[in-house]
Amino acid sequence: MPVRTDSFDLGALRLSSGEGRRLELEVALDALTFGAQTYEIRPRVVDAVLDISCMTRGGYALRLRFDAVLRGSCMRCLEPAQPAIAVDAREVDQPGGGDELQSPYVRDQELDVRGWARDALALALPAQLLCRDDCAGLCAVCGENLNEAGPEHAHERAPDSRWAKLSELKLD
Ligand SMILES: [Zn+2]
Ligand SMILES: [Zn+2]
Repeated sequence: MPVRTDSFDLGALRLSSGEGRRLELEVALDALTFGAQTYEIRPRVVDAVLDISCMTRGGYALRLRFDAVLRGSCMRCLEPAQPAIAVDAREVDQPGGGDELQSPYVRDQELDVRGWARDALALALPAQLLCRDDCAGLCAVCGENLNEAGPEHAHERAPDSRWAKLSELKLD
């Protein structure tokens, strides 16, 4: 039965060196701002899997996985978008191992699951959040949604200069 968790006491597991544990947690996520848009997270509380390994040299290797669906506007066509994001993040925390081996989410064996989940989701976002991968976006000339207008949507192009020359010849 998953437990709603904001932070987690790693020490309470009393893992011995080399031992590991997999936990199912519920983690609450706040709305996310990306570009100029705000995206709601659905569900707001995600089911996450947390793998904890107690390393032989002390400290922990951690892996956090969950799926979240964002709800907001497509960055190309501005229609509603619900991109699904799969998060798979790893952290190592080894006291005395130097800055690189110190996780910013672990303090005195207390893991900030919520803060880590929030940052990991932000890092897992693609460059653009779209209604669908091949969203055609808006017409650069008239602003019409090209997903609906279809491939036949076009505007009269400015005449090519070569054709202009030809039409001059015709006038002679
Ligand atoms: Zn779109
Ligand atoms: Zn157009």
